[in-house]
Amino acid sequence: MKTIALIAHDRKKEEMLSFVEEHFSILQKYSLIATATTGKIIRTRTGLEVTAYLSGPLGGDLQIGARIASQEVNLVIFLRDPLTAQPHEPDITALLRVCDVHNIPVATNTAAARLLLLAMHTLIAEG
Ligand code: PGA
Repeated sequence: MKTIALIAHDRKKEEMLSFVEEHFSILQKYSLIATATTGKIIRTRTGLEVTAYLSGPLGGDLQIGARIASQEVNLVIFLRDPLTAQPHEPDITALLRVCDVHNIPVATNTAAARLLLLAMHTLIAEG
């Protein structure tokens, strides 16, 4: 099963939740992984199964990055907050970098996330 990683900074969590609710029927067909708080919110508010790693500031971005480097993630939806400095900025850069190193599609806003998710889902359906 294809795996999608979901990560949202605090001021982007509601937007992530709306995105997940809007695309529930597609996302339920995939294996979902997330950082701790993002995963918990998605699980409790939508009922979707989500494997949660550590919170981003505690190393969750790096844990997901390791799975990306191992070719175990097919799409990354990373709603970062572009207006707030994060304590784990180096980890954020590392996560985006590892996506580029391994040529894994990554969306950092919901417009791109929608396009990538629908495209990936359509391509898989077409075989
Ligand atoms: P969180 O981590 O889902 O645990 O909040 C995301 C982040 O802030 O990087």
